[in-house]
Amino acid sequence: MLQQTQVATVIPYYQRFMATFPKIADLAAANPQQVLKLWEGLGYYSRARNLQKAAQRIMSVHGGRFPETFDDVRALPGIGDYIASAVTSISFGQPHAVVDGNVKRVLARLFEINHPANRSDAHPVFKTRAESLLDRKDPATFNQAIMELGALVCRPKQPLCRQCPVSGHCNTFKNGTTADFPKRQRKAPTPTIDVAVGVVFKKHRVLIVQRPGEGLLGGLWEFPGGRVVTGEPPEAACRRHLLEKTSIRIDTAMPLTEARHTYTHFKIRMTVFNCRWGGGRVRRNGPSAHSWVTLAELDRYPFHKANLKLFDAVRRTQS
Ligand code: SF4
Repeated sequence: MLQQTQVATVIPYYQRFMATFPKIADLAAANPQQVLKLWEGLGYYSRARNLQKAAQRIMSVHGGRFPETFDDVRALPGIGDYIASAVTSISFGQPHAVVDGNVKRVLARLFEINHPANRSDAHPVFKTRAESLLDRKDPATFNQAIMELGALVCRPKQPLCRQCPVSGHCNTFKNGTTADFPKRQRKAPTPTIDVAVGVVFKKHRVLIVQRPGEGLLGGLWEFPGGRVVTGEPPEAACRRHLLEKTSIRIDTAMPLTEARHTYTHFKIRMTVFNCRWGGGRVRRNGPSAHSWVTLAELDRYPFHKANLKLFDAVRRTQS
């Protein structure tokens, strides 16, 4: 839960999650929709799906006991080099160096590493350095110490070099070049995608669809819609996506609201229409499930955050 997410945000989610699934076996056997519902609003939903798959693998392959070797931990869905190194070193005392953003900053400054720390090929460069420093007798303390050093002392801005316990070994401190490290590759600007969304009413029920199980926001629910192509009016895009993805026609499409949402690599700008069903049975092309629900029933389904932002406007249509 803490990947890309602040502790304060995570705490209530963690508490609800642990109260619902106190044991690995509980999570492994849970309904995936319940898992996503508990994760609703936390983002990066592949973490939830992977956590459940990992629990299932621990049950089927490891007899319900969390594995202890690096390779077995690394083989669990959703676990990469960082978590495998952190868990096996801190929990089991095994000699694997952790490399996160804080560690990279410390290493880049200690050794004046010119390789951009945010480039996709940076990990092995920093991993090799971290492994060369690792205290193999006490990797747990070493890893936690270097992460804390990065978080509290070797901070991104205004590092506390005069209080730093390793300043005597630090090249950038010696050379007065700390502000130039770590090197970073300039990121391309985040693109904005225009999306048209239809909130389709049939009497007092509204149409919601479920995204396919894998991929971005997999398994979550949303109001149907899709990308607006260049030059296309948003209302036409809304009608087109409804027809293509659900086969239904709509009578009216009145502007309802606009909203924006930012993902890691792009932003979306949503134009949302209040639509009245005009005919046709739902035949799905893309969504893995659909449902006509009352507004009171919306809360039973796990929605992704961009659509949760629309709930107030959707509810106002019926008040
Ligand atoms: Fe970071 Fe300064 Fe310590 Fe070097 S001396 S590791 S730059 S805090």
